[in-house]
Amino acid sequence: MTHDTWGRVQSGLQKTVGKNNYSNWIEPLEFSGLRDGVATFLVPTNFMGNWVSQNFGDQIKQHLTNAGANVARIEFSVPKAGSRPKLQSKPSPEAEPADTAEATTGDLGGVPGAPLDPRFTFDSFVVGKPNELAHAAARRVGEGGPVTFNPLFLYGGVGLGKTHLMHAIAWELHRQSPELNVVYLSAEQFMYRFVQALRDRKIMDFKELFRSVDVLMVDDVQFIAGKGSTQEEFFHTFNALVDQNKQIIISADRAPGEIENLEERIASRLSCGLVVDLHPTDYELRLGILQQKVDQYRKQYRDLELAPGVLEFLAHRISTNVRVLEGALTRLFAFASLVGREITLELTQDCLADILRASDRKITVEEIQRRVSEHYNIRLSEMIGPKRVRTIARPRQIAMYLAKHLTSRSLPEIGRRFGGRDHTTVMHGVRRIEELKTVDNQIAEDLELLRRSLEA
Ligand code: ADP
Ligand code: MG
Repeated sequence: MTHDTWGRVQSGLQKTVGKNNYSNWIEPLEFSGLRDGVATFLVPTNFMGNWVSQNFGDQIKQHLTNAGANVARIEFSVPKAGSRPKLQSKPSPEAEPADTAEATTGDLGGVPGAPLDPRFTFDSFVVGKPNELAHAAARRVGEGGPVTFNPLFLYGGVGLGKTHLMHAIAWELHRQSPELNVVYLSAEQFMYRFVQALRDRKIMDFKELFRSVDVLMVDDVQFIAGKGSTQEEFFHTFNALVDQNKQIIISADRAPGEIENLEERIASRLSCGLVVDLHPTDYELRLGILQQKVDQYRKQYRDLELAPGVLEFLAHRISTNVRVLEGALTRLFAFASLVGREITLELTQDCLADILRASDRKITVEEIQRRVSEHYNIRLSEMIGPKRVRTIARPRQIAMYLAKHLTSRSLPEIGRRFGGRDHTTVMHGVRRIEELKTVDNQIAEDLELLRRSLEA
């Protein structure tokens, strides 16, 4: 993609976003480059980057794709002058002249990694009950020193802070031991690099590069599941580094054993270090995060007048994930700076109507399945799979019962989500639990407990 392409895309966007939005948000963007499917734009402030990403990100991506550019993601960065520099895989001290740093991060000259987000540090990570274990483990790894658990495997749902924690570890390691070669990248980028090396017949270089890192972090590893040769290569890289006693940190959206199409031996290798999960946020954590973001905003920009109760309201109503919570706050900040008056509860409700509507708490069948599997200590794949032994069939029926009562899904829809079962099977399951709960106290208790935790 060239700057010309961006020019054309820009004028296309003008039509879809409207004139005002265009001149406020789109026109100031400066196209900086496209690499590994990531299009980068320079923006004057982080705030603006967030805002554009939240509100126009999808449209920009769509337009770029329509124009023939191969864009998987867009990123915004603030030019070096004012802020901390955006670092390449091997963070280089600020004193180092920029061009030597460039020279070592050329295409195959240095170890390929992704830039670290300067905002994702331990300082800015709010700790609460749901993430305290993951945080403690990340802290420990960030201290460097002898490798105690390898790999550290962090897992949890979208937007719960996995990437944040990984970047924080990288920053901390860099601060304490700048000589270490710390490489952070997504599993997708790992695959991209691997495929590129295959194509260019540089696979030996690829292997050598990856085996020369001191700390390897691979984010969203579920991505390589089912991708045969990438999985294989990842496995070899992984083993080679573990053998050399190099620290590895992995994240995924679920536990190793729950990742579909991930080879058994890889899953079991991934589980042999420390596996910790980030639980869904609770009210206190959300409020803490909001408060911290507001403090940051005030430090960086200006006064922000928030009526009492606004943050509590948001923490209560937006319980999906932290990213959505941040998006809401970003919009509120933009709104505040535009209207220049106090943000009241009413204004908040107006300004965020769509987000609030979307996050009206809806329980999903998948969530029920996950919670019930955890409760009975069976695998999610077993819950959906064909096994009919009682220890699995009973939890499955309980999940069906809860799905019937806590979601608006029809029996056939529920059946489909249980590995394509017939609606009569679901009906039978639901009835069975209805009978059992009147005679079996344990089941009645379990149901009550599960219902309460799902509705929390
Ligand atoms: P994940 O990688 O798990 O999908 P991210 O690490 O990208 O999630 O987090 C999403 C956003 O939420 C980021 O902007 C991150 O800074 C923020 N975030 C998540 N958890 C916390 C936390 N405990 N404290 C502060 N910010 C958080
Ligand atoms: Mg992530």
